[in-house]
Amino acid sequence: MTPDYQTILDEIRDEVQPLLAQGQVADYIPRLACVPWQKFGMAVVTLDGQLYRTGDADEAFSIQSISKVYTLTLALQSIGDKLWRRVGREPSGNAFNSLVQLELEHGLPRNPFINAGALVVADVVLGAMPDPRAQLLATVRRWADNPGVQDDPEVARSEQANGFRNAALANFIRSFGNLEQAIDEVLGFYFYQCSLAMSCEDLARGFLFLANRGYCRWTGDRILSPDQAKRINALMLTCGTYDAAGDFAYHVGIPAKSGVGGGIVAVIPERLAVAVWSPALNAKGNSLAGSAALERFTTKTGLSIF
Ligand code: GLN
Repeated sequence: MTPDYQTILDEIRDEVQPLLAQGQVADYIPRLACVPWQKFGMAVVTLDGQLYRTGDADEAFSIQSISKVYTLTLALQSIGDKLWRRVGREPSGNAFNSLVQLELEHGLPRNPFINAGALVVADVVLGAMPDPRAQLLATVRRWADNPGVQDDPEVARSEQANGFRNAALANFIRSFGNLEQAIDEVLGFYFYQCSLAMSCEDLARGFLFLANRGYCRWTGDRILSPDQAKRINALMLTCGTYDAAGDFAYHVGIPAKSGVGGGIVAVIPERLAVAVWSPALNAKGNSLAGSAALERFTTKTGLSIF
């Protein structure tokens, strides 16, 4: 029986209201600090293209680390499994912007979803495309079926001006020979990808290909092979919410990717993609109310991958 998604989303929106104020809006990127914590949106897109939505689901926000799934997809499209010579596939158990593990592991980042791994992926994408920013934006617009998706230059500038830790990571990786492009280019592209602004509706549409064996429902393109889509879902489950991934899998039970803009997008293979946005974060940098909303979603619908 198909769950009543609309009723479930509206119930969740009401239930999480008391949680919205409990987290902390990210302020290490100053531009993100001014986003109102009261926002909450959630959207579901099912495999047949039906959209269900509640709250501020059509409002664009900074997708931040959610973009790492898109750049990973582009890197796999261009160099396939060769990517895994330069990035690992293990959960890090450390904060997303941690430096310590890199030294011990000689500049080979644990996975593509911590910042160090995403910088290496950005390096691969830069090396594979003549105009990577324009190509990333055009690609995301197609996959999300929304030609109106934009980047936010203010967010990118704000992060660039304060991105000392990412600069440290990039320099460190370079010292081990695992970056090929100029460091400023890699950082510039990374801050650009993080500055893409999308709504929950865009993200639910834009991640449906991962529920759909790598096929884009909107363009008919094969974005990834079914095997590659399966593997990205596995990485999202084990690494998509950083050092909270175990707890997230325990409570929510589906592959997901979060960002410090407060968005989380999740996938139930063969069924749907679901995106949620609430700007205040928990101590691990994942949306606090967003995580609770997804836990309620899998509980109320009875859907999970387990
Ligand atoms: N741009 C952010 C950073 O590098 C992305 C982190 C995140 O969303 N977890 O710190």
